[in-house]
Amino acid sequence: MKQSQISNTMDIEKSELYMSDIQQMLKDEKMFQRYEQVYKNKLYSLILLTLTHKSFDEDQAIILFKDIIKHKKILEKSLHRDVGISVSTLDYLQNIKKLFNHPAIIEESTSNFLADSTTKDGLTDLYVRDILDVFLRKEIENSKRTKTNVSFAMIDIDDFKHVNDTYGHQKGDEVLKNVGKVINQNTREMDFAARYGGEELCVVMPNTKIKEANEIANRIRKEIKALAFDDFSITVSIGVSQSNKGTTDEKELISLADKALYKAKKNGKNQVILN
Ligand code: GH3
Ligand code: MG
Ligand code: MG
Repeated sequence: MKQSQISNTMDIEKSELYMSDIQQMLKDEKMFQRYEQVYKNKLYSLILLTLTHKSFDEDQAIILFKDIIKHKKILEKSLHRDVGISVSTLDYLQNIKKLFNHPAIIEESTSNFLADSTTKDGLTDLYVRDILDVFLRKEIENSKRTKTNVSFAMIDIDDFKHVNDTYGHQKGDEVLKNVGKVINQNTREMDFAARYGGEELCVVMPNTKIKEANEIANRIRKEIKALAFDDFSITVSIGVSQSNKGTTDEKELISLADKALYKAKKNGKNQVILN
């Protein structure tokens, strides 16, 4: 997937979540509400990601962000000037919450360069979970508008614990890295592949019917099976779901794929099941 697609995903009506937007949002309550409607609770972790380049989970981010805003008001009262959101965030997280050890000050233009490394998982080279949720939500909205389908595949390595136990964690990591590579090679420009967690990986396929998604999933499954590691090989099970008019949100699409994946495991693994 192109980097430009990532920034489109982060766009709201063509305005991106840069420092300047966060500053604007803080001045303009309506704008803030608009962002909140689209990103829901994820907004706060995205704001903190932009501000700190660290990921915080949604619940923690909401609390921290509200506390940072309170802290900003306190600073402004005692200093009699606008200290800005960056300084307030840094002072609160560094000096009050003691969450940072050695923070560095860098320009946003420099930090954009870093953004890619925080959006991709280092081991598999697939996108991280945070971005997945936002991308999926946006694609489901798009599909409703354009009356197309989004397909979603959840991929789980079979008996991966056995690989770790038998060949060691490092070998396990090597397996994950190669599985990530196969997934990246088999996804199209418009697709979006992410590490859902642990040895669970997933692919979002916009404008794709489940039949076509099934073919892509099976191609991925076969290529992973063909990978050779010393004296062993591995297989994966894949659950695939498809959005339709009734699909409410990304959670439902993920849950349908999960159920299909569960069936694939129960049926003997190394297979693709559609839901
Ligand atoms: P199943 O076929 O039912 O999926 O069995 P499984 O052994 O793959 O599933 P289980 O959930 O029991 O184990 C998953 C294992 O994946 C356990 C965990 O240690 C391992 N794992 C998760 N992330 C990583 C990682 O980044 N590196 C390595 N080496 N192992 C990981
Ligand atoms: Mg698993
Ligand atoms: Mg597994």
